Formats: sequence, structure tokens, C-alpha cells
Amino acid sequence: AIFRKDREMKILCVLYDDPTDGMPNSYALNSLPHIEKYADGMSLPSPKSIDFNPGELLGCVSGELGLRKFLEDGGHTLVVTSNKDGDNSEADREIVDADIVISQPFWPYYLTREKMETAKNLKMAITAGIGSDHVDLQAAMDHNIDVVEVTFCNSISVSEHIVMMILSMVRDYHTQHAIAKSGGWNIADAVKRSYDVEGMQIGTVAAGRIGLAALRRLKPFEVGLHYFDRHRLAPEVEKELNLTFHETVESMVEVCDVVTINCPLHPETENLFDTEMISKMKKGAYIINTARGKICNREAIEEGLKTGQLSGYAGDVWFPQPAPNDHIWRTMPNHGMTPHTSGTSLSAQARYAAGTREILECFFDGTPIRDEYLIVQNGALAGTGAHSYSKGSATSGSEEASQYKK
Ligand code: NDP
Repeated sequence: AIFRKDREMKILCVLYDDPTDGMPNSYALNSLPHIEKYADGMSLPSPKSIDFNPGELLGCVSGELGLRKFLEDGGHTLVVTSNKDGDNSEADREIVDADIVISQPFWPYYLTREKMETAKNLKMAITAGIGSDHVDLQAAMDHNIDVVEVTFCNSISVSEHIVMMILSMVRDYHTQHAIAKSGGWNIADAVKRSYDVEGMQIGTVAAGRIGLAALRRLKPFEVGLHYFDRHRLAPEVEKELNLTFHETVESMVEVCDVVTINCPLHPETENLFDTEMISKMKKGAYIINTARGKICNREAIEEGLKTGQLSGYAGDVWFPQPAPNDHIWRTMPNHGMTPHTSGTSLSAQARYAAGTREILECFFDGTPIRDEYLIVQNGALAGTGAHSYSKGSATSGSEEASQYKK
């Protein structure tokens, strides 16, 4: 990577839209709880300073990830937009002379090879969050564009969402809440799909930061815990959580009532849950996917729910994003989808905004960016990227995001 102190840089930041009724004047909580360290001992983002109040909306256009003062004081130009899809989007117009592009997985700016080829000055793509599959990693390697993300910033946020979704799907919370909200009281309607989680077998595809945190949080529910991963966890961890390791995804899904997906999207995991994999699952199982939409085949999930092979599907990740208004996952039976929100709670935003600031400070100062944050560096997978991703691209089909209408 080339670090230049002598030149003003242009930073393009693609963020989601502001709230429909404008930025909040006040927030539910006055402050965020203090967190000392991440669960594995890694330190939280540590920029020299921040120019925002943790707990405010930072991930939307007016929030600007709290970066404007810092960048403008340094003589740089910050352009923030939510307009990222379709022909001639503002992001596509601005990227041509941008040095750095920042985007969040919740509102991903799909950085395809073609876009990179229009961006002659581009040196770095920062994911303000975790998961850089919206960047064609192979093209980034070929064009010597570094890719970094804020590892661990929202892993716990997502693991909490997973537990929420497992409980809400198995107990059928959505139906019950809808009855209460609409003035009803038919208990039989409310419970005819409602079970206890206790005693169920729950398995995760991947036991990385999120997968392991979800397993830890599920242990008190007195369930059987299973995992599949490319690397095995330490024996002490397997023992502590009483985990069953599976050599293949197939052997795990055969015995699980609930499967949660927590691997990154890369060419090896794209379409992993297709009709064939779903047919190998225990009849009536639930899938919780907060990893990436493309890991599950869109039509196969709908079909599984319609036939009852799946009892429920929930998650917050879609492909593309925003999901077109007629995306079949919006209307399929027994789903508990949310928009992509699990990793962008106000708590998570404070961490990834600080992490983005830390990365930018390192970049401008010419000091090394933490290894944990690296996905691609100097034309090769590096750091966390070398561990968790494979070469190639998972961005194809992203043009469809332009079909979403507000
Ligand atoms: P980690 O890098 O800590 O964990 C990823 C794990 O996936 C690693 O243990 C890795 O295994 C494993 N893995 C990689 N490829 C495969 C494969 N082919 N089969 C099985 N396991 C595989 O990342 P996180 O846990 O923090 O995040 C995981 C993913 O979750 C992100 O990449 C992102 O897509 C998604 N995410 C979603 C968010 C949301 O808001 N919904 C927010 C944050 C992340 P190993 O190391 O053993 O090779």
C-alpha cells in the first residue's frame, strides 16, 4: 500500500439513509454500557480520539460515521451518499477520483471489478462492519486495492440477534405478537406452532467469533450443541460447551433441529444451502442465517418452507441489499426476516465508527493497520482475510439491488 501524507485524499463513504422522520433529537438510553475487551482478549477500536457521542446514529448519511471533522481538519474531502445502485449512481460518479471508499454491509456498495477499473486512485476499501463479500476480493488483489474491516466490532451484536431469532422462531413469537397487536386473544392460534427450545439440537456452520459467541449464549438453554468448521476449536472449549464436532455440514444438519449459519460468504460457501443440502436436514428444522443471504439459495429456502421440510427461516441478510420489494423472502411462509440490522445496533455503530477512524489514522500516519482488520493487502489475502476467506468474487448479481424502490 502507498501511504501519502503530502496529498489531500478523497474519501467516499456510502451509508444508509437517515430515519424517515429525520435524525433523532434524543435516544432511548443516555449512554452505552462500558465494555473492557472483546471476548477473546482483543482490544476494542482505539483511535486517538473520536468526534461523536457513542450511542448516536452514525451509520446513516447524516451520521457520517462521525468522520467529517477529522477528515476535513486533515485537509481531506469527505463525500457521503446513500445513492449507490443503478446506472450513474452518485457513488459511481464519485468513486472515479476517490482514494478510499467506505461502506457498510447493511447497505453495501458492491465494489465490482468494473467499478474498481473506473477508480484509478483507489487504494483502500474499508468495511465499516464485518464481511467484505460486497467487494470483489479477486479484483481488489489484482488492482492492489487493500480491503480492511473492523473485525469483532459487531460479532456479539449478531450473536445476540441469533439467540433472539432462535427463540422467536421456535416459540413462534411473531404470530403471538401479531395477535396481541391486532386486539385478538385466540390462544390456540397463538401456540399451534410454538415449542420449547430445551432439549433441541442446535448446530452452527462455522464457530468463528459469531458462531462461538452464539454457542456460548445458547448453553444455558440446555440444548445439544454442534458445530462444523474448517478448523477445530480448542479441546477445552469443546469440553466447556459440550460440543459435538462434525466433519461435514451434512452430518451436522442431519441431526439438528436448528441450524445457524455463521461463515463468511466467499466462493466456497456461496449457495451452500441449496435444495440438496436442505433435503438432508432433519424434517421441520429451522434455519437462522445472519451471515450472508447468498449462502442460502433463494428459491430452495422458499420451497423448503412451503413443503414443511423447514419449519422456519429467519435472519437479517439478503441478496442483494436492499432486497427488491418483491424479493420472495419478504412473503414466504413462516419467516422471521428483518432488514440487515443485527450488526448495526447503536452499540455496534459506536465500535465500528471508532474502528474506521482507527484504520484511517493508521493509513494517514503510515503506521500498520492491525492484522486482525486486514482482508486483502498488497495484492493478497492477509490477516483475518487469509484465515477466513478464499480467493474469488461473490458479487455477481448485485445489479439487482437497483430494483428496490423506497
Ligand atoms: P470470523 O472470521 O471470526 O469467523 C468466520 C468463521 O467461518 C471462521 O471460523 C472460519 O473458519 C469459518 N469458515 C470460513 N469458511 C468456511 C467454510 N467454507 N465452512 C465452514 N466454516 C468456514 O467472523 P465472524 O464470526 O465475526 O463473522 C462471520 C460472518 O458473519 C462475516 O463474514 C459476515 O458475513 C457475517 N456478519 C454478519 C453481520 C450482520 O450484521 N448480520 C455482522 C457481522 C458479520 P476457519 O477460521 O476455521 O477457517
